[in-house]
Amino acid sequence: MNKKIIIMSHCILNNNSKVRYINDEKRLEQNKEKQKFIKKIIDKDIGIIQLPCPEFTCYGSNRWGHVKDQFDTPHFRKHCRDLFKLCLEQIEEYINNGYEIKAIIGIEGSPTCGVTKTCRGNWKGELCGNKALSSTINSIKECKEQGIFIEEINKMLKEKNISIKIVGLDESNVEKILI
Ligand code: SF4
Repeated sequence: MNKKIIIMSHCILNNNSKVRYINDEKRLEQNKEKQKFIKKIIDKDIGIIQLPCPEFTCYGSNRWGHVKDQFDTPHFRKHCRDLFKLCLEQIEEYINNGYEIKAIIGIEGSPTCGVTKTCRGNWKGELCGNKALSSTINSIKECKEQGIFIEEINKMLKEKNISIKIVGLDESNVEKILI
């Protein structure tokens, strides 16, 4: 046992939690790359802790894709904090017993788990009868900031004076990740 642990976003290990996607082939391809990445971690005998998926646990399997602005509510932030609480206790216990938490891995571009990139946009209101629907959808833009869950994780780690590297996994370029 080498006493090393990596904590990762839920959907790296369980693709089923993600917003349903039209291009299933692309997703299957990305999933294969993620599986290779996970295998490398297992081969190095590094333990894996899977974070809960805040979007799935809050909105379920039939949710639409959202932007960060829609998730930026007191309730969703509290939900994220509640979900991370149990993981934080485990982190403390491992650190107190000489284990190394090598990294927390989020998902680039996610409104929830993004680490250096998330998405914002003027998304709100009814879909039916919205004559400006395409311009609403097209208001989405990539932003160089964290998703809501990663922001709350950062705050909770700071509150405990715990420093852990947080890195983002780019699902279209899994190889690029450095941990
Ligand atoms: S990126 Fe985060 S919120 Fe989105 S599906 Fe993955 S674990 Fe869930």
